[in-house]
Amino acid sequence: QVVNYAPFTLLPSAVPSALFEQAYAVQQDFNLLMDAISQNQEFLEHTLASTIKVDDFTARLFRIHMQVLEEGLAQSVFLGINRSDYMFDCGVDGTPALKQIEINTIAASFGGLTSRTAAVHGRVLKVLGKSEEASRLLPNNPSKELALGIAKAWELYGSQSAVVMFLVEEVQRNIFDQRCVENELWNRNIRVIRKRFRDVFEKGSLDDAKRLYMDGQEVAVVYYREGYVPKNYDQQNWEARLLLERSRAVKCPDIATQLAGTKKVQQELSQPGTLERLLPGRAEAVARIRATFAGLYSLDLGEEGDKIAATAIADPDRFVLKPQREGGGNNLYGEELRQVLKKIRDSPERTSYILMDKIKPQPAMNYLLRAHSPLQVSECISELGIFGVYVRQGKEMVMNKAAGHLLRTKAIEHADGGVAAGVAVLDTPYLV
Ligand code: ADP
Ligand code: MG
Repeated sequence: QVVNYAPFTLLPSAVPSALFEQAYAVQQDFNLLMDAISQNQEFLEHTLASTIKVDDFTARLFRIHMQVLEEGLAQSVFLGINRSDYMFDCGVDGTPALKQIEINTIAASFGGLTSRTAAVHGRVLKVLGKSEEASRLLPNNPSKELALGIAKAWELYGSQSAVVMFLVEEVQRNIFDQRCVENELWNRNIRVIRKRFRDVFEKGSLDDAKRLYMDGQEVAVVYYREGYVPKNYDQQNWEARLLLERSRAVKCPDIATQLAGTKKVQQELSQPGTLERLLPGRAEAVARIRATFAGLYSLDLGEEGDKIAATAIADPDRFVLKPQREGGGNNLYGEELRQVLKKIRDSPERTSYILMDKIKPQPAMNYLLRAHSPLQVSECISELGIFGVYVRQGKEMVMNKAAGHLLRTKAIEHADGGVAAGVAVLDTPYLV
C-alpha cells in the first residue's frame, strides 16, 4: 500500500579484494558445517542444554526438533540458504582481517534487492564521470542463485504439480526482495504461493504420507522468510510451525538448521576441537573457517564464565553481549552491557547470552540515502555477507555453492542493526 525505495549508499564502498575472496572461498565450508550440525542431534542437544533452560524461544524450537526426530523424519531432501556476515577488523598495525559476525540460517534476506545495487552504483559512477570505475563493479545476482537452489529442491521432491510456498510476514515490509527470488522461479515454470503462519494454521494439512497441502495444493518446498523471532509466534503459529516441520516438504531451513544458526552454537564452534569433530578429515576447511572467528565466550555458570563476565564488566568496550535473537537491535554494548551483565552475573539468566570480541573496522565517508531522511555525509562502516546455498538428498550433497554477496553500510554511531532494522543501507563493494 505504501512503497518506499530501499535505502542505499550514494557511492560503493572500498573492500579489500583479498578479504572478499577469502569470504567467498570459505562459504562452501560453512555450508558443509551448518549441514553437519543440523544432522548432529547429540551436538545440538549438548550445546543448547544450558540455553534452553533459560531461553523459552530456543527451548520451543528445540522441542519441535525433538518431536520431529522422535516421529521419524519424513523429509528426505534438504535445502539450506544462509548468509555468513563479516566485518573487516582493523588490527593494531592497521591491517584489516576478515571476522565473522554471525551466520544466518533462516530468512537471510536482501539477496533480491542487492541483485540490483551494482547497476545503481554503476550509474552513479558514470554520472560522476567515473565510467572506468563503474566497469569494475562485479556482477552479483544472489536472487538467481538462491532460486536455483529452491528449484533443485523442488525438482528432487519429485512432483510436477507441487508448489513452492514462501512463508511470509504478517506485515510485509520486504516483499520486493522476496519477489526477485520468486520471479526467478516463475521463469522456470515453478509455481509460487505466499502464505502466513496463520494461513497454514487455517488451511494446511498432511496426508497419510505426510505430504503437505495448502488449500488442496501440494507443497514441495517451504521457504521461511518469517519465524525467527518470538513475536512471529502465537499458539496457533507454533502449531502451524510444527505441522510444517512434521511434513515431507523440503523446509528451508528445517528446524535443526535454524538451531544450528543460534549464537550459542556459534560460540561453541570456537571451542578447541569442536570444528574438527564436526568436520572429520577436512583439516583445510576447518582452518579456513577458524581463520574467520573472532573471540567468542560462553557465559555458562562456572569459573570460566565468571572470569569473562568480570573482564567484560571491567572493560565493556572490548565486547558485545548477544542474546539468542535474530533480526538486529538485540545486542548490548558499552555501558548498557556493563549494567546488564552486572545484574545477571550470578544468575542462570546469563547463560542465555554469549560474549563476543567487538570488531573494529576502519570507518570511511559516504552518503546514506533513505526515504524521507535528510541527506548528509556520514562516517560509515560496512558488513559483507556471502550467501550460501546447498541441497542434500538423503546423505548425498547434490549442490554446494557460494551464491553472491551483500554489502551493508551504516553510520558508526549505530552499534547494532541491519537494513530491516532501519540502520544499515544497501551498498556495493568496490574491490581495492
Ligand atoms: P542479529 O542476529 O540480530 O543480526 P548480529 O550478530 O548480526 O545479530 O549483530 C547485529 C549487528 O550488530 C551486526 O550487523 C553488527 O553491525 C553488530 N555486531 C554484531 N557483533 C559484532 C561484533 N562482534 N563487533 C562489532 N559489531 C558487531
Ligand atoms: Mg546479523
